[in-house]
Amino acid sequence: MIAGVLVFLGTAAPALADDPPTPPRAVAAPRGIPATPSGGSYEQLISFAKDTARDLGAMQQQARDVAAERNDAFAQISTLSALTGKPSAVRDRLEREALRLSATTKIPSATTVSPATREAADEMRSLRVELKEQYVELQAEAVALAPYAVIAPPNGAWMTPAEGELTQGFGRTTYRGEPSGVYGGVYYSHFHEGIDIGAEMYSPVVAAAPGRVVWVGHLPDGAMVVLIAHIGGLVSLYAHLDDGIAPPRVAAGDEVQQGQIIAAIGMTGMTTGPHLHFAVWRDGELIDPESLLAH
Ligand SMILES: [Zn+2]
Repeated sequence: MIAGVLVFLGTAAPALADDPPTPPRAVAAPRGIPATPSGGSYEQLISFAKDTARDLGAMQQQARDVAAERNDAFAQISTLSALTGKPSAVRDRLEREALRLSATTKIPSATTVSPATREAADEMRSLRVELKEQYVELQAEAVALAPYAVIAPPNGAWMTPAEGELTQGFGRTTYRGEPSGVYGGVYYSHFHEGIDIGAEMYSPVVAAAPGRVVWVGHLPDGAMVVLIAHIGGLVSLYAHLDDGIAPPRVAAGDEVQQGQIIAAIGMTGMTTGPHLHFAVWRDGELIDPESLLAH
């Protein structure tokens, strides 16, 4: 957007002391990601979370691009400020000189600046005004996109979302309480979609990785869940959370950091004791959460 206006880049940008950028005006939130799904089945909910996880990456790239353009504009304004500063220094000196002279000779100070100097200075000033307008727009856009820029990609290991004992692993199981499932193209009569961590009632449940809360609510079986989308097409589900004295502390649309407490261990839904059911999808496909956790 800015590229090509000036070619002063490459030199270190001086501080913009005399000309601070105007504060950004309010702009509408960026389009793209609805905070909540419009309802529907469990499958539709997971699918919605998958789309959100994918969109998060795109929005983050957009946030980075806009910030880079804004910084570019800032550097150009700074360069122009330095350049326009020189003629004005000359002009100021001439004006001071003229004032001193005018005290005795009555020569108007305006005549002491050559028309060429004034024209060049005016041209630089109008260019700077134009750049500042662009800067203000870009800054406003960058502010609107800021929530996406701060979502760190879950590069490192994920955190265990609850302190406790692993009571059931991921995958095929003989436990008849688990529904059937298809994994890797294979049908299983009983398949555990995540891992279970047995823990103290009301003990904290934390976000396993940074991300954006997609949904908080009850599944049809009564389980209170929090669903989080992560950069990289990943989605995490936290289930059987308490919905009584320690309900979830987050809402759809919230950005969460790794380790942030999102809810408390509970017994909502079909469960024989307090535990967390933790499931993870990558691009809509279930994966073993333990493959992401540090041990
Ligand atoms: Zn489970």
